Amino acid sequence: MEIISDPKKLKEYRKRLKGSVGFVPTMGALHAGHLSLIKRSVAENDHTIVSVFVNPTQFLEGEDLEKYPRKMEADKKLCELAGVEILFAPSEKEIYPDKDEVLISAPKIKGYVLEGYHRPGHFDGVLRVVLKLLNITSPDKAYFGKKDAQQLYLITKMAKELFLDTKIVPCELVREESGLAMSSRNAYLSPKERNKALLLSQALKRASNMITAGERESEKIKEKMREVLKEIKIDYVEIVDRDFNEIEKIEIGNTIILVAGYVGSTRLIDNIWI
Ligand code: AMP
Repeated sequence: MEIISDPKKLKEYRKRLKGSVGFVPTMGALHAGHLSLIKRSVAENDHTIVSVFVNPTQFLEGEDLEKYPRKMEADKKLCELAGVEILFAPSEKEIYPDKDEVLISAPKIKGYVLEGYHRPGHFDGVLRVVLKLLNITSPDKAYFGKKDAQQLYLITKMAKELFLDTKIVPCELVREESGLAMSSRNAYLSPKERNKALLLSQALKRASNMITAGERESEKIKEKMREVLKEIKIDYVEIVDRDFNEIEKIEIGNTIILVAGYVGSTRLIDNIWI
């Protein structure tokens, strides 16, 4: 496996590649969720590039940029074992060489609801780095998890509206056996908090059970979910269609139920696609 940090070197390497290229952008501290994306890329492409870059521009003032887990040695091993050809691990300077740079903005509405409302500017940073990474790696396919549903939606929207050549591939959310959605931030949780964090997936499970039983009213479902989540400081419990418009009634095949909240000082998100 090649480890490259210089974007120019990666672009040169990329130009020499024959066949299809898959790309999986990550912030590292890789877990089974990341690995499901990586394995899919390895299975579907002749070459796979994984990036590990803790992107400072998507963290807001006061968020966990400094303490975000960094596990480069383990990440290298995991990528190598999974059959990754290139690990792209740039420095901050290599991605952001100039402070006064050309910017891309998240859409004013869909980039500022839900996650974007609670983390204003977060998606500007996400789109900014993803566009750079896609331009550096020029992949045929780029793999993103449904775990970050709004991020996936906005990246798909960006790729379409900016006429990018890359196909954005949505990948299923991977959970621990307990139901907890895998996340690098789970590393912050104490054993007690881990237990409490299960309430997020339990609330979503409650929602899916209600829907299976015939309930279609969003408000009724959200009410029950809030009951399950009463011990958690909730940022939002929301039901949207696949274009992130709030909906009053569940539309089977076109609905995402999302939840975000704090367990102790750790902010967690989870969702299910109905
Ligand atoms: P991150 O390192 O958190 O920026 O995530 C990198 C990619 O992995 C994103 O596309 C995430 O949506 C995806 N990802 C993170 N956690 C999971 C998970 N539990 N299941 C599926 N994909 C995930």
